[in-house]
Amino acid sequence: MNWPVTTPDTDARVAELDANLRALLARIDAACAATGRDPATVRLLPVTKYFPASDIELLHRLGLREFGESKAQEAGAKAEVLSDLRDIRWHLIGRVQRNKARQVVRWADTVHSVDSERLATALDRAVTVALEAEERDAPLRVLIQAGLDSDPERGGAPPAQLPALAEHIARSSALRLVGLMAIPPLGANPDEAFARLAELHARLRADHPDATELSAGMSGDLDSAIAHGSTCVRVGTALMGTRPITSG
Ligand SMILES: *Cc1c(COP(=O)(O)O)cnc(C)c1O
Repeated sequence: MNWPVTTPDTDARVAELDANLRALLARIDAACAATGRDPATVRLLPVTKYFPASDIELLHRLGLREFGESKAQEAGAKAEVLSDLRDIRWHLIGRVQRNKARQVVRWADTVHSVDSERLATALDRAVTVALEAEERDAPLRVLIQAGLDSDPERGGAPPAQLPALAEHIARSSALRLVGLMAIPPLGANPDEAFARLAELHARLRADHPDATELSAGMSGDLDSAIAHGSTCVRVGTALMGTRPITSG
């Protein structure tokens, strides 16, 4: 395991998370007000990677129900530890290997990082099996991750491939295409990146009207993402604090 198992001082941690959460919600409200958006149209997805399951329990106490994790193995372990909290919805926001699909669909509500037809096919098959085995009772919600740069390490399908990938997912039996996700290229101007993403999202929605979600914005750039139509900001550091150092 590469995250701490216990948090030493629960009261202090809950106070810290509560204060961070309030500040973050105020920041989201301000970003919405600045562009005339209704804050109810932007959801906060807390990103809890590298933080202990005990933190997720505290956030659950504070009223949060959806959590984003970037590594399948870490997320699966936390989902198991917290399986008593039945109303949690887990989002996988990091890269997924096809050979992890069977494990991922046991706990994931939503996968934000589908960037190839091969991965979509693997997830579709895995969900179909999991539904038959009664390991889950609903289709998997998926977002296509768009690549806004040519760095394959950051993941994401090239924009030219988005229509075919969306069509492929729409034809699958156990996946529900709910939107588009992206991470701006390192060092890019977020306003430019999110403006481009908004265009890609508009094109996607023209063919797939149900793909309304736009997963965009992190601690450093969520205000810009909201200005460009984000419906889901994925926030780690600004809520949880600086991530613990890890080996992987
Ligand atoms: C870690 C991570 C985030 C959160 O980043 P912060 O800068 O800590 O808010 C958001 N999205 C993805 C895909 C991540 O891996």
